Amino acid sequence: MNNKQSKSLFDKAQHTIPGGVNSPVRAFKSVGGTPLFIKSAQGAYITDEDDNSFIELINSWGPMILGHAHPVITSAVQEAVNNSLSFGAPTAKEIDIAELICEMVPSIEKVRMVNSGTEATMSAIRVARGYTSRNKIIKIEGCYHGHGDSFLIAAGSGAVTMGVPNSPGVTDGTAKDTLLAPYNNVEAIQTLVAENKGEIAALIIEPVPGNMGLVLPKDNYLQKLREICDAEGIVLIFDEVMTGFRLAKGGAQEVFGVTPDMTTLGKIIGGGMPVGAYGGKAEIMNFVAPAGPVYQAGTLSGNPVAMAAGLNMLTYLNEHPEVYTELAAKGEKLAEGIQAVLKELNLPYQVTLLGSMICIFFTENEVDNFADAQTTNTEKFGKFFHQMLENGVYLPPSQYESWFMSLALTDENIQQIIAAVKSSLIAVEG
Ligand code: PMP
Repeated sequence: MNNKQSKSLFDKAQHTIPGGVNSPVRAFKSVGGTPLFIKSAQGAYITDEDDNSFIELINSWGPMILGHAHPVITSAVQEAVNNSLSFGAPTAKEIDIAELICEMVPSIEKVRMVNSGTEATMSAIRVARGYTSRNKIIKIEGCYHGHGDSFLIAAGSGAVTMGVPNSPGVTDGTAKDTLLAPYNNVEAIQTLVAENKGEIAALIIEPVPGNMGLVLPKDNYLQKLREICDAEGIVLIFDEVMTGFRLAKGGAQEVFGVTPDMTTLGKIIGGGMPVGAYGGKAEIMNFVAPAGPVYQAGTLSGNPVAMAAGLNMLTYLNEHPEVYTELAAKGEKLAEGIQAVLKELNLPYQVTLLGSMICIFFTENEVDNFADAQTTNTEKFGKFFHQMLENGVYLPPSQYESWFMSLALTDENIQQIIAAVKSSLIAVEG
């Protein structure tokens, strides 16, 4: 594969951008090699500066659920820009999107728009702390909630990929208020709650973690968390930045029938524009300024261009529920194909699937939590990743990420991915 342009751009970028990228996982550090500098993307394909095209399984880390440059989204943006890019004043579209979010995710009675998933989670825990007058939060090991200080403790995604799940710069004072428990372990939560009686404001969790690879809840784990939080007056926050509007219209909470007190959203909600949101019970959200005392603000929050993109995206998903059945069918086809390849090659690796989120763990252990995920052979994953690129498929450049499928993937694309998985595994395993 010719990557001359990407190489020269990456060299150039090092001079003025830390590590040459504006978000760490993009640097290909854990898989080695040069990141691809992207020129354009259309439908299921992405094209780099050397004019290599790949079938896409990153999809901007989730937002591109309809595929790239979908006219429903691009037309909204093109129309909106003609009326100026920002006002810093309320607009009618902000009400439309708020109403639609509340309709699609019924646990959300009131919602505040922000500019990223990070802002959404940082704000949500501040509100939960203000609402409960408590300081501590419980976070699940291997879950990633953006780069807010409270969350950079045993964090997944880029933090674990870069080997800094506990980041320097986070003060001991902040770290001591974040309590940790393994995913899928109810007893660990019960112990933390008993040891910190009356002190825990919130339990924040990715209901289906996609930032330590993809891991699924088992044995009614989410229901049990709901019961504990109810009994202890703890605000249950589902971080659905990845799963929101992806696993179902109403996200993971709809799929598993568990109602959180608060939800954080991002990615799909902006259709590719920088948008996040947090919302929940009106009683809690009424603590947010100016309705209440918990301060949170944003110059560009509710930006008209971003709202136009997000509103069209959510409207489309709301009016086309078949998107989810189609995506699930594509997911199943891909997972089945990969399972068949693993069986044929006699490889013991794990495939996790939920809807259009999928991942292969390079381990023979069942993966139920972060410790299990860390038994994977990341070196093999790195080799596999590069083989997949050679075979025309662009995966997230880390073992600790979910792959995101888009509606633009055709049956033929799925067969191409399965064939690429087979030849890549053969090359890796020798
Ligand atoms: N929460 C989850 C579950 C995420 O997956 C991410 C980003 N991948 C975030 C929060 C942070 O979102 P952002 O990168 O938009 O700040």
